[in-house]
Formats: sequence, C-alpha cells, structure tokens
Amino acid sequence: MLAEIITIGDELLIGQVVDTNSAFIAKALNKIGVSVFQITSVQDDKEHILNALAAAETHADIILITGGLGPTKDDITKKTIAEYFNDTLVRDISVLENIESIWKNYTRQTLLQVNKDQALVPSKAKVLMNRYGTAPGMWLEKGEKVFVSLPGVPFEMRALIENEVIPKLTNKFHFPFILHKTMLVYGLGESTLADRIAIWEDALPKHIKLAYLPSLGKMRLRLSAKGFDESQIRKDVQDQIDKVIPLIKDVYFGLEDEEGDLEVIIARQLTRTGMSLAIAESCTGGSLAKCFTSKPGASLYFKGGVVTYATQSKVDLLGVPEELIEAHSVVSAPVAESMAQNVLRLFKSDFAIATTGNAGPTKGDSDAEVGDVFIAIATKNKVYSEKFNLGNHRTKVVNKSVHKALELLLK
Ligand code: ATP
Ligand code: MG
Repeated sequence: MLAEIITIGDELLIGQVVDTNSAFIAKALNKIGVSVFQITSVQDDKEHILNALAAAETHADIILITGGLGPTKDDITKKTIAEYFNDTLVRDISVLENIESIWKNYTRQTLLQVNKDQALVPSKAKVLMNRYGTAPGMWLEKGEKVFVSLPGVPFEMRALIENEVIPKLTNKFHFPFILHKTMLVYGLGESTLADRIAIWEDALPKHIKLAYLPSLGKMRLRLSAKGFDESQIRKDVQDQIDKVIPLIKDVYFGLEDEEGDLEVIIARQLTRTGMSLAIAESCTGGSLAKCFTSKPGASLYFKGGVVTYATQSKVDLLGVPEELIEAHSVVSAPVAESMAQNVLRLFKSDFAIATTGNAGPTKGDSDAEVGDVFIAIATKNKVYSEKFNLGNHRTKVVNKSVHKALELLLK
C-alpha cells in the first residue's frame, strides 16, 4: 500500500514556508504501516494540481493533499479537485454551521459570502470536520483509491490527520506493521561509528534496514523493519539493538522517543526523581532553556533560567565575583562554575547548568578563542566544568554547546 503526499501553495515553491506538513503526514502514515512513495509540492495552479493528481493516481493508493482550501482567490484546490472528479460543489450544512460558530468569535469582521463559500464541497466528498478552522477536510474515493484533501495550516491539518484520517484509513485497509527504532549516539563521528559497528551492520537480516542520520553533535541510528507479524518484527529489531549496544555503550544515550532527544531523556529522569533544574546562559542565549520548555511537562522540573550575556550582568544578576572574572577571563572554568552555583542557589534547584563561551565569528572582548565554550554543572555539593572548542560557525557553536551541556548533565 503506497501513499503520495501533495502539498499545494506558491509559498512552498518560493521558499517562504518550509513544507513541514509532509514530514508530519509521512510519519503518521509510517506508524500505521503505509509507505510514502513520493512527496510533491506544486503551485496554486490548476494545470499543475491536475497533473500532480493524475500522476499520483498512477502510482499511489492513498493520495493526501494539503493546502489551498482558503477563502481567497489564490486558493483553488477544492475547485480543481471537483474538476478532477467530474463533480460539482454543493453546500454542506454542518460545515456552514461550523464556519458560523467560528465567526461568532470574530467581533471585528463580518461573515462574507467568500467565507460562507468555504462550506461548498464536492458532492462526492465526505466531509472531515475541521474544529480549528473554517476549511473542511475532504475524503474522496475513486475505485480502490483514496484521496484526502486537508487545509494547509499545520495545526488544523495535524488534528484532522490524527482524529479523522488515520482512524478512517486503518478502518478501511489492513496495513502491515512498520517499526522504526532510533538509537541516539553522541560524540562519535559518522565514519568512526560505522567502522565500529561494521561487522554487526554487514550481518543485519535483509528485512531490517539501517540508516545513519548525523546532525550537530549527535548521530541517530535508525533501524527499520516492516511485516504483518508485529511481534516477530519487534523481536527481530530488538535482537539487533541488543547486539549493537555493547559495541557503542560508551557513546549510546538511549532510544529516541516519539519526538525524543537528550532533553527528553533528562526530562524523564528529573521528573521521575522529583529533581529540578535551573540554567544560567551566556553564549547559548536562551537556547538551552528553550530546548526544555519547548516540550510539554517542563514545569514539573524546570525552575527557570537567566541569560546573562553581558559580563556585568553575570556580576549584577548572578553575583559572579568581579575579581574572579578579572583573574580568569569571563570565558573560563571558574566563571562557568560560579554561574552554575549561583543560579542553583537563586532558583533553589537540585541541578544547574551554565554556559559561557565565544560563539564567534570574531574574537570579541574576551580573550577566548572563537569556539571556546565552558560548560558547568552544579549540584548542592558539587560543581564541575569542561572546556570545549566547538569550531568557528556561530550557529554551530551555539547548537553544539547545547548538546554538550545536555551530555554533561546526563553524565
Ligand atoms: P486556510 O483556510 O487557513 O486558508 P488553506 O488550506 O487555504 O487554509 P493555505 O492557504 O494553503 O491553507 O495555507 C495556510 C498557511 O499554512 C500558509 O500560509 C502556510 O503558512 C501554512 N502552510 C501551508 N502549507 C504548508 C505546508 N505544506 N507545510 C507547512 N506549512 C504550510
Ligand atoms: Mg495557499
């Protein structure tokens, strides 16, 4: 069973909006055993959309379309789909009621005919009610093939995929089981890692695929397998994980969760043990705090943080002694450690992380080399720090600092 995703919108083709809808849909489809054969992005243009639909129909069984359902003239997906199905648009009362109830909250705008026209849907379509917006999703069938058209707005699309499309697909079809397990490895380059696990990799059974996904400071090793016997697939993949972990145990940090990462592992450990965290940042400028607060449940363990970017702020807000800065430079182990200890006290937390460094591109006012970063971890009785040189690319230095800090905290 193959799927194709078509995302529609001029904004995608001029690079103004990044197509995140496809990634979300592909992930959701994979989870239920549907492989995505192709992802296509097309302009808000009738001929292009018709061509994309015809091409998708030749090689996919399930065609998911997002975008172009808005009330404005540039959104033409609905009309074009109706044309593709030789269909006409008819008013759907429940969609009209949904539109009217949403518009009740818009006190400063009047409901125009174009808004009411969003209740027009192809007569052959089954409406997928959009609780978060005015553009409905639409489910159409042609023989054994399914076409689903969804709004482009990511949170509207996501809710429809989760609440409507996935349940409907699993009801209609019997899909194989697809399993992806991703191991997180930190601090080892791609080729060194590949060399270490070469013998294991060469001996992998044919139905299990391995992928290397390197990104700043970390490597994701993904094992994928597909089949109708779920328990066998789970067992086969687990066997391979059990075999490879002993080869990488010094750099292995666990399995990636649904959207897991080092911060997820830390969050889980802190939540489980009832411990709390505070952060004092300089060169990472809040990125470290953001990586915790961007995940739900952060309030259970994250007490807060400060971004003391200027040297004087480290003194005024955190109470880092001026003499310490003069004696060692602001980018130094003693300053990082002092920041960590002080923010720990300030927030009364069990753990604290601090970063101070020079992210570049120029040497700036400290005497630290570009890329020099000190990271400190403090608890009530202990403080330690490590020095890193993380290169000369500003974004990379910041991102790598965040990862190094997370690694250090886990250690
Ligand atoms: P609406 O009724 O809100 O207009 P729509 O179906 O017409 O919904 P579009 O107008 O195509 O949706 O897109 C609305 C917004 O959603 C775009 O401005 C863009 O920011 C975002 N968007 C659209 N397609 C994608 C996509 N593939 N990935 C990420 N964001 C997208
Ligand atoms: Mg659009």
